[in-house]
Amino acid sequence: MQTITLHDKQFKPFISETELDDAVTRMANQVANDLGDEVPVFIGILNGSFMLVSDFVKKYPKPCEVTFIKLASYEGVKSTEDIQRLIGLTQDLTGRTVVILEDIIDTGNTLVEVHRIFENENVKQLLIATLFYKPEAYKKDFKLHYVGIEIPNKFIVGYGLDYDGLGRDLPAVYQLKTTQHMTNLV
Ligand code: 5GP
Repeated sequence: MQTITLHDKQFKPFISETELDDAVTRMANQVANDLGDEVPVFIGILNGSFMLVSDFVKKYPKPCEVTFIKLASYEGVKSTEDIQRLIGLTQDLTGRTVVILEDIIDTGNTLVEVHRIFENENVKQLLIATLFYKPEAYKKDFKLHYVGIEIPNKFIVGYGLDYDGLGRDLPAVYQLKTTQHMTNLV
């Protein structure tokens, strides 16, 4: 793996394809062991989770359902809080075990929206699985049931995660290279 440039920034190799593969396999097996014969509904949060979800469900050793949702900010609404709306959830989830598949949990703001949205869905249980987790940045109390890889509070790209549109396609993960004067940006 070599240093790459996306737009104006340089990124150094951080997590290899093999490490990602191991983490996703481990998570899939953990969920399967915990859920027994229950058929879960895996819900990926777009855009960042598309690669994770694809690999995760291939490794999931039992029957499952899979779908995606997208959170979008309301446009033209003046609000100090960034209230989000949901695109894509059409399925009745009453009584189902729902496992949210997140690419990354940073501050946890997205997770708050996810909980708000699923509060009214009458699900049997809502489980949260995230491939990457930044413990130093996480500010919420919601439990994270499955965590793939804990990472420091630095900006990463690849495996679904982008920098200004670029990098989602990369099969491995790269970390923003910082210089002394940039440390307040990450
Ligand atoms: P939250 O702060 O709500 O937990 O994370 C919000 C969103 O910020 C994530 O879903 C992800 O799209 C983005 N994000 C957080 N940390 C990173 C990062 O290190 N790299 C990239 N590319 N996106 C990130």
